[in-house]
Amino acid sequence: MTEQRGEREPERRGERTPHGEGDGCGDRDGAGRRNAEGDRDRLALARAWEALVATARRTVADGLVVGTSGNVSVRVGATVLVTPTGVPYDRLGPGDMVGLGLDGRQVLGSLRPTSELPLHLAVYRATGARAIVHTHAVHATAVSTLVDELPPIHYMTAALGGPVRVAPYATYGTDELAGHVLRALTGRTACLLRNHGTLTHGDTLDQAYDRTAQLEWMCRLWLTATASPAGPPSLLTPAQLAEVTARLENYGQPDAP
Ligand SMILES: [Zn+2]
Repeated sequence: MTEQRGEREPERRGERTPHGEGDGCGDRDGAGRRNAEGDRDRLALARAWEALVATARRTVADGLVVGTSGNVSVRVGATVLVTPTGVPYDRLGPGDMVGLGLDGRQVLGSLRPTSELPLHLAVYRATGARAIVHTHAVHATAVSTLVDELPPIHYMTAALGGPVRVAPYATYGTDELAGHVLRALTGRTACLLRNHGTLTHGDTLDQAYDRTAQLEWMCRLWLTATASPAGPPSLLTPAQLAEVTARLENYGQPDAP
């Protein structure tokens, strides 16, 4: 009985079967299109979730977080997929998807989303970000306790939009922290969170992840250089950074002048 119901149910709801009973002639193409779109959306979400879990695992494997103390999200259309709170990333599977609308309403899954959800949603609402990586990387977090801005010690500063600012401290998971982070991100794709960690965003999970890795590397570089008795280290000037920014804009375009 159960099996039979299971088979007939989609037909009754007009799903999967474009020519389901009860559809008027004019609705058939529309229903078929809707089904195809629904399948595409589900596939896109499943792929994005798989990439999100892989990225979250990478943050642990590469030592950017310990345990579950970071979080990753990716936007697929109007849905934001995020890592759940308190579940080790190596235990996450395809059935653990957590998805929310930009208003914070949960639309997919039953696990609770990361406690930093307000931070992620605020960034998606205010920027064109498609993916966000938040970590507690040790060198970056150390720098967040020392300065208001990471001094421009390397030209990769330009790849993040300019000298990376430190957002003032606020309790994790609060709208106050989200507000501080948004201000620190103005014109940048990365910022530090004082006594807390990093946040970067990008067009893809790989890009957001790579920006986090670059930021952590630059923080380590600055700490190493400032710890030397031969210091203080030389820094790049705004003009030098502007030149790199112009070069980066042409990066990957061999025909550009
Ligand atoms: Zn955090």
